[in-house]
Amino acid sequence: MRRLRLLSLAVLALGLLGGWLLRAEEPLDLREHLHEVAPGESFTWHKSPYGHFRSEEGTVVFNTHQVAPQVRGWAGPIETLVALSPQGKITGIKILRHRETPNYVRGMLRREFLKQFLGKDINDPLQVGLDIDGVSRATVSVQALAEGVRVASRRMAGEVLGLEVRAGEEARALAWLRLSALAGLFLYALAGFWLLRRHPRWQRLRDASLLLGLLVLGLWQASPMSVLHVLNLLLLRVSAEPLLWVLLLGVALTVLVSAGRLYCGWLCPFGAVAEFVARLLPGRAWPIERTEEERLRRLKYPLLWLAALAVLLTGRTEFALYEVYVGLFSFSANPALWALVALSVLLNPWAWRLWCRWLCPVGAALALLSRNDPDRYPSSPLCPMGNAPRPEGAECIRCMRCYTPKRPMISRSNEG
Ligand code: SF4
Repeated sequence: MRRLRLLSLAVLALGLLGGWLLRAEEPLDLREHLHEVAPGESFTWHKSPYGHFRSEEGTVVFNTHQVAPQVRGWAGPIETLVALSPQGKITGIKILRHRETPNYVRGMLRREFLKQFLGKDINDPLQVGLDIDGVSRATVSVQALAEGVRVASRRMAGEVLGLEVRAGEEARALAWLRLSALAGLFLYALAGFWLLRRHPRWQRLRDASLLLGLLVLGLWQASPMSVLHVLNLLLLRVSAEPLLWVLLLGVALTVLVSAGRLYCGWLCPFGAVAEFVARLLPGRAWPIERTEEERLRRLKYPLLWLAALAVLLTGRTEFALYEVYVGLFSFSANPALWALVALSVLLNPWAWRLWCRWLCPVGAALALLSRNDPDRYPSSPLCPMGNAPRPEGAECIRCMRCYTPKRPMISRSNEG
């Protein structure tokens, strides 16, 4: 494991340094897109108070990110070109650039979706769920898009067009509900872990946590932990989305408290699917030689390194899109990813949690942070990871089936 950790650090350093040297982001040329949001008008550039174009007819065109830079999605700003009429109505809109995970935001990029902004007044709510329809599985990104358009348009209307802006009450209740549900989920898992250490038979606590993880992180919020969240931060694509920070802090807390992959064993929605399928469908675990199994388990590290290196060097998140939970819970994947999702789910009765054991990049990243503790976690015949006796800490997801509170009183020379 020490070697894997060193190699991982080397890959990270290489990716960051190489990316810094090689990656240069093309500046956006707004002029190229003016005809798409305000056809037939000719514009002149104005620098203040925010950079914008203005036509003889009085239409102003601006990039929302330049006017409201504080508004961000999961992975930084969603730069959107908006045309505003002298009366304060949106007459054109085009998304110029974003770094959101492509699977989640396909619907948001469609022309039909963006059409609903046209004709809206700056004093309209411009809020998802009120006068803007959301996109299933992309709530956070769509909210960031709508907020960017709303805030930037109102600023431009007030400060450039001299219009009266009556800012209405913003609907925050749903955002708070989502945030509270996510924080509550992590608190429940941590409390359950603490209780299960004292009462190892209360396994239903973990089942309930997995079910809640599936419902909240998977089906409702479509926001399972992804390596892209961390890679985006390393690329300085900082998000202002509270949900992301609660997720990252929650996962970090589970590693600190359990010194292991508590997230995988208690919260991961894909882990929940894998485990429930393995329990519901009849099947007998394939006999796999221990050395073969060890080799397969090592696979997840080079896969993680390759993905991280490619993303850090190129800045393109598509290179990490082999995460099955992203495909499954965004309901959007290419045929190869759907095939991987199907195999990873359906083969579980014969190879328990095969995705988590062999391929998962989040599992690999958390495994690198796990502590080896085979005395407390010696494994059991019911181990959901199919661990052999005295497994590596990296392969234990803290299901607590084998938890031994006190170190056994046998000396090492008597073991095995
Ligand atoms: S080693 Fe023990 S605690 Fe870890 S996953 Fe297996 S049975 Fe659960």
